[in-house]
Amino acid sequence: MESSSTSTFRSHRNERGLEIPGRLCHCGSIVRMFTSRTQQNPGRRFLLCPGSCGERCDFFEWVDQFGCDRATMMIPGVMVHLNQFEGQHRLLESEINRLREENSHLLESFVHLQAANKALLYKSKLVLICAIVCLSALVWYM
Ligand SMILES: [Zn+2]
Repeated sequence: MESSSTSTFRSHRNERGLEIPGRLCHCGSIVRMFTSRTQQNPGRRFLLCPGSCGERCDFFEWVDQFGCDRATMMIPGVMVHLNQFEGQHRLLESEINRLREENSHLLESFVHLQAANKALLYKSKLVLICAIVCLSALVWYM
């Protein structure tokens, strides 16, 4: 994915294929940005190294300075709402998954019932044809 490199930055392609610059850790990995949700540093962004070859290194660096007093007071409330919305989002996602499963089962049942209906229709046509033949024969012999 990496397309160029310097000593501390290199560009890479994100999941949409856009080339974006990334800061390099001393271990060679591109560091990732996260947002703190702790009471001490709510909303404050920081960099962490995902590590390379499955081993995470100890790189950590704050990106944002401490906010102003008003922001520091407001962010915990916003974080509470965010957590509530995320909880609701998780509930809705699980409900969507449940409904998808139910839909899948209903679709399976529909296919079975459709096949059974087709078979019954075929049998009823046979019975109708037999009845017509029998009635015709009866009328012909009379
Ligand atoms: Zn690293």
